[in-house]
Amino acid sequence: MPTYTAPVKDMQFLLQDVLRVTETGVPGYEDLDASFTSAVLEEAGKVASEVLAPLNAVGDAQGCVLENGVVRTPEGFKAAFEAMKEGGWTALDCDPEYGGQGLPYLMGTAVGEIFVSANMAFNMYQGLTHGAYSAIHAHGTDEQKATYLPKMVSCDWTGTMNLTEPHCGTDLGMLRTKAEPQADGSYKITGQKIFISAGEHDMAENIIHLVLAKAPGGGEGTKGISLFIVPKFMVKEDGSLGDRNAVSVGKIEEKMGIHGNATCVLNYDGATGFLLGELHKGMRAMFTMMNEARLGVGLQGYAVAEAAYQNAVAYAKDRLQGRDVTGAKNPAGAADPLIVHPDIRRSLMDQKSFVEGARALTFWGASLIDRHHRQNDAAADGLVGLLTPVIKGFQTDKGFEMAVQAQQVYGGHGYIEEQGMSQFVRDARIAMIYEGANGVQALDLVGRKLAADGGKHVMAFFDMVKAECKAHDGDARMVPFTEALKAASKQMQAAGMFFMQNGMKNPNAALAGSYDFMHLMGHVCLGLMWTRMAKAAYAALDAGAADTTFYETKITTGRYYMARQLPACATHLARIESGADPVMALAAEAF
Ligand SMILES: Cc1cc2nc3c(=O)[nH]c(=O)nc-3n(C[C@H](O)[C@H](O)[C@H](O)COP(=O)(O)OP(=O)(O)OC[C@H]3O[C@@H](n4cnc5c(N)ncnc54)[C@H](O)[C@@H]3O)c2cc1C
Repeated sequence: MPTYTAPVKDMQFLLQDVLRVTETGVPGYEDLDASFTSAVLEEAGKVASEVLAPLNAVGDAQGCVLENGVVRTPEGFKAAFEAMKEGGWTALDCDPEYGGQGLPYLMGTAVGEIFVSANMAFNMYQGLTHGAYSAIHAHGTDEQKATYLPKMVSCDWTGTMNLTEPHCGTDLGMLRTKAEPQADGSYKITGQKIFISAGEHDMAENIIHLVLAKAPGGGEGTKGISLFIVPKFMVKEDGSLGDRNAVSVGKIEEKMGIHGNATCVLNYDGATGFLLGELHKGMRAMFTMMNEARLGVGLQGYAVAEAAYQNAVAYAKDRLQGRDVTGAKNPAGAADPLIVHPDIRRSLMDQKSFVEGARALTFWGASLIDRHHRQNDAAADGLVGLLTPVIKGFQTDKGFEMAVQAQQVYGGHGYIEEQGMSQFVRDARIAMIYEGANGVQALDLVGRKLAADGGKHVMAFFDMVKAECKAHDGDARMVPFTEALKAASKQMQAAGMFFMQNGMKNPNAALAGSYDFMHLMGHVCLGLMWTRMAKAAYAALDAGAADTTFYETKITTGRYYMARQLPACATHLARIESGADPVMALAAEAF
């Protein structure tokens, strides 16, 4: 059975040495000193390894069961959910006006990683609630906020997001769910939604569904869409629960992974709904939360890979197989442990250098969201908008790949369910698909984000990379970082130039290269993160830090990423510059 230990030291390094949170001037960050953040993360780590991780395999094996219209979650989930509520973990970064603790989003992100690594399917019940909470917080009336938010902050009531319908997932302009206005100002919602995560379950008193639907007069396509609050149980004026609303579960899906989370078909049969935000501007309301939601899925990508990696390391140290070609390391034993073999090392270094780089990028993204929300920093908002499809698409692709690599370390045993490695692979797979499939993330990056605001944000990103490299001129220790980063950044600029020169004439020339561009930029982002982490590690060593092994390991891991991963950028550029022809040359009939 896999185990999990929260990487508190690595998180502390990011918060205190790399981001230097208390010195940033972001309101609320002044409280995030090392002893406070370490206490929060240690405590979250305890909950994760003692309560959530042991339930991960249980959730996978039992799944959720639909009986008489009620979904039963796996054994132990309900008690664990109560423990999360009692510990205040659901309220961490929520608004104190509604019972939250008001901690920065960055802290919610760090703690979220710990819980996702321990049990991704379980954490989704709270994650979806947080998404719905953010939507109501941003777009609700005062009355709606007072009615729903306190109960959602405490997770007495959970939330869902209802976009997808049988005939439309990516292309939401085609959605058919109808909203008919009623004399009392409410709407009757009719239609079917599919694949709704946490759509029905037995852990909360009420479920607040946020539903995209079309109200009359909005016109065709996404412009006509509005967002509605549809409670499972109607809420009376005094806040108590009334009648059951006309929303029911059609079925729960049998699926590849995240079995502990109920993925539901929800039927709305004239259910009572209340408009959230402006009429016919539902997509805009959804998009205000998109950065957070996609960052959360990008986090799932590396958080599952972290858990898989931890177990692969333990296995590689324990399993005896073959001899070290340079001389036996365990001469008294029948064989040496797997970890002596260079190919196993390559795999573990791939995993370690990706996970730590992705954690740095995600924490940086979360800090940009805090800058936007707490300081109204428009540049931070623009930058995180640019980074979001990369964090979502690149990190979930790589996270899945790394979970597979961790499974591979186990050989045949990785394919056997009782080891738990198969679950990591199956769970990680969905993150590449939901919250906008990764191909669509690449489209968003190349088709919208690069050119957004006249290309201002991507130019700011290039300037940042340039400044980071320049800051280390003359520091020989940093050369392996800055030279690799400069080269990769030039390749990214060349790709951008190719899109500018060819995309107008032939949009396919840009779109055929969009997936490669998302990965190219992902490597540049992680290269930038490793350069910053190396700088911080050298600074700590120069200042006489006690734990030299930690900082030296950090630098060595970063050098691996720069030497072994950044060269992929050249391949991505070559593919991009080959244009649309190789991709589009065959007629559809030839497939
Ligand atoms: C386990 C699970 C949980 C989910 N949870 C939720 C939830 O809570 N709420 C919710 O609303 N939805 C949820 N979803 C739905 C999910 O978000 C959609 O499946 C996803 O957005 C893709 O939509 P689709 O499945 O209809 O695929 P399609 O839109 O049919 O796309 C199929 C493929 O074509 C590609 N594609 C589509 N359009 C283009 C284009 N223009 N250019 C290039 N490529 C394109 C996509 O990248 C994808 O690979 C969930 C799905 C699953 C499986």
